[in-house]
Amino acid sequence: MDTWLVTGGAGFIGSNFVRAVLASTPHRVVVLDKLTYAGHLESLAGLERDARFGFVRGDVADRATVEAAYAAHRPTVVVHFAAETHVDRSIDGPREFVRTNVGGTQEMLEGARLHLLSLQGPDRARFRFLHVSTDEVYGSLDATGRFTEETAYAPRSPYAASKAGADHLVHAWHETYGVPTIVTNCSNNYGPYQYPEKLVPLMVLNALEGKPMPVYGDGKNVRDWLHVEDHARGILLAIERGRSGGRYNFGGDAERTNLEVVEAVCDALEREAPPGHSDALRAKGIARYRDLVTFVTDRPGHDRRYAIDAARARADLGWAPRHDFAGGIAATVRWYLEHRAWCDAVQGGASARRRQGLGTPGATR
Ligand code: NAD
Repeated sequence: MDTWLVTGGAGFIGSNFVRAVLASTPHRVVVLDKLTYAGHLESLAGLERDARFGFVRGDVADRATVEAAYAAHRPTVVVHFAAETHVDRSIDGPREFVRTNVGGTQEMLEGARLHLLSLQGPDRARFRFLHVSTDEVYGSLDATGRFTEETAYAPRSPYAASKAGADHLVHAWHETYGVPTIVTNCSNNYGPYQYPEKLVPLMVLNALEGKPMPVYGDGKNVRDWLHVEDHARGILLAIERGRSGGRYNFGGDAERTNLEVVEAVCDALEREAPPGHSDALRAKGIARYRDLVTFVTDRPGHDRRYAIDAARARADLGWAPRHDFAGGIAATVRWYLEHRAWCDAVQGGASARRRQGLGTPGATR
């Protein structure tokens, strides 16, 4: 049995990944997470009953914390999710993004380099440092084309730039120090346990309260969407089969405009929670969720389109998404309807859903 150190495991993708590891492998998992506004132990509820699960509260940008975690748990796999992740917040307060995403990645890499020196034989041979990154590092596309692993980096938001910086550090630690790294760049995830500032849960919760469903600009910005369980399975396969020094794109072949995503959420809600059955919505005179859709000021520098070519992951890792978009969104909407207590616990009133990212200096920090 190996120990896997998972940073950011109390966040959206991390918590889904930790569940997948415990369910499908024999390994121990230790989560290292600072529990920022986006990290919550409620997302890991129940796992404490598994003797293979451990949790350490700590900051990946703090050298002593990181060194102690490597020394105490002696992992053979590190999966690095921990990051500041909301583009809008990065516009208002970029400092924390550079500190955690760039500085935190450097500390995790440096910790891995030193830890590797203490590993012998097979433990050393199978050590992997998997860095979880985003398709946003590649910049914005026009109507055609898709990102491959060879696409030049051209990040445009502070969030994307901080992730790009982290990706470059990972490559440098592989080339310079021989740390066996893997970088995965994934498109937009949706699914259970996503913090309600992000598009899908924000829309679900606003709709249920009869609040405006805000769509930025003309609603025609395109993203590729992947169910979080498919992302988690891709990361597991990359650890198992990925090449040291390799990089893999994951995407769902599911390009949708933001407006199409919001309309899919509305349609799922019409079936699962008809407005006519809600006193709150009836009192506000809301007959259809689509009537709540409201176009608002666009995000500054809003990338127009992302699209992913995941051919390498399919060929080399034997990976393919299992969820189609329509079924995945319907299941996700049901999950939020059935987990209102989780939503209430993590979002601290409705402040999670306030508008951010209009570029007001110091708006968040
Ligand atoms: P999230 O915001 O839901 O969770 C981030 C987690 O990291 C939280 O648990 C938070 O407490 C923790 N964290 C933040 N700063 C920390 C620090 N300094 N030290 C320790 N822990 C810290 O994020 P997510 O959506 O789950 O994304 C996880 C990773 O996947 C990120 O690296 C992100 O860039 C990447 N990614 C996300 C998406 C997406 O659609 N959500 C797509 C591609 C890649």
